[in-house]
Amino acid sequence: MRHAVSLLALSLLAAPALANDATGLDAGDIATAETLREQAMAGSAAWDIVESLTTEVGPRLAGTPADARAVAWARAKFESLGFDKVYLEPVTFPVWLRHREQAAVLAPAPQPLVVTALGGSVGTGGQPLQAPIVEFATLDALKAAPEGSLAGKIAFISNRMERFRDGRGYGPAVGARSNGAVEAARKGAVAVLIRSIGTSHDRFAHTGVMRYADDVPRIPAAALSNPDADQLVRLLGRGQEVTVSLDISAETVGEYTSHNVIGEITGRELPGEVVTLGGHLDSWDQGTGAIDDGAGVGITMAAGALVGKLGQAPRRTVRVIAYANEEQGLFGGKAYAEARAAAGEIDAQQLGAESDFGAGRVYALRAGVDPAAWPVIVKIGEVLAPLGVVTEREGGSPGPDVGPIVAKGAPWAQLAQDGTDYFDYHHTPNDTLDKIDPKALDQQVAAYAVLAYLAAETEVDFGRAPAAPAK
Ligand code: ZN
Ligand code: ZN
Repeated sequence: MRHAVSLLALSLLAAPALANDATGLDAGDIATAETLREQAMAGSAAWDIVESLTTEVGPRLAGTPADARAVAWARAKFESLGFDKVYLEPVTFPVWLRHREQAAVLAPAPQPLVVTALGGSVGTGGQPLQAPIVEFATLDALKAAPEGSLAGKIAFISNRMERFRDGRGYGPAVGARSNGAVEAARKGAVAVLIRSIGTSHDRFAHTGVMRYADDVPRIPAAALSNPDADQLVRLLGRGQEVTVSLDISAETVGEYTSHNVIGEITGRELPGEVVTLGGHLDSWDQGTGAIDDGAGVGITMAAGALVGKLGQAPRRTVRVIAYANEEQGLFGGKAYAEARAAAGEIDAQQLGAESDFGAGRVYALRAGVDPAAWPVIVKIGEVLAPLGVVTEREGGSPGPDVGPIVAKGAPWAQLAQDGTDYFDYHHTPNDTLDKIDPKALDQQVAAYAVLAYLAAETEVDFGRAPAAPAK
């Protein structure tokens, strides 16, 4: 809270030329934001950006040659969109490579299974692993199994993710993916198979990152498509032992240094204070990462570019970040936060927002800011209201890559998107450009442009986030 009180006092003396209330914004600022909103709704650059990224680069698994091509693409795109400062910051992480994945039921009814290795998984040692499967309805049920009870067996976790507009079915389900291998190995299992963490009825398996612990063996981990998981449940329901063959070739091979790619519209009065937008540049390897997260990159680049085309830049800098390697552990967001901390720039972080929830329309604005800055959020919400966006005082969370800097106290905003269909495509070969509605992207660009502009223009300081959400 550096400015709000003094500004309020000033404005009482000098109204109406200055911002006339606790929002730190005047009528001209609101009119400019409305113009940005209407410009975006009339047709933004976002779809062309996503089309370019997903066509010219394609899938962008972190640490592969496609990662480097994506970084070069992002730098060139920021420059062509008119950002006045474009630069890279290093992000280092282990490289995981998927080579081969196959599975089948061997008995009692031989048939192929559609699976995908989970990100970070080890392979099966160059040959198929063959073992009976034991089903657990949830990760907790697996945790409750007796020690050693899975020796020589494959644990099969069959929990099903539920569909919600806000994606809240993901959290309760995803533990099976993240921690299934560790818990299965504790019980002696030789591998873990999970039902995909996704809502699709199609025969695509959903990948995603998993992790190991140092005190248990590293066992292969893979996800079955929803229909294949159903098939295994039915087979097991007949009371016979079901034996499965799993053949995975995957490996972790050293470290790689990629980059967060950053484009800025330099602020006219307070260039050192930054409002950040962003999405993550990396994707999984099977689709083209259109909704996860080509959309977020396209939306926030387009929104920043719109602000950059104004006759004068806003007071603060608008910084758009294409984060490196979100998928395998938020490496880009963590590196960004560490770099700001090392440079003593945490206090310079004003509002931060990330678009990483697909390409569905924005329906809510939420924020974590100093309570004294809440009137600014309400005012931003008023400009967003014609887009069908409501302002919600409670709840919400920063995007995944914003989480690490929020944990250091930086304030955040969330433009919540309709994610009803997001987990149909998320982390599958079916995450491709055709799933994106260009008009929906324009609505999101409108929302991000309004947010970025008003947050960068207001005389109010967003202070510190009231509490660091667990993320
Ligand atoms: Zn994502
Ligand atoms: Zn993802």
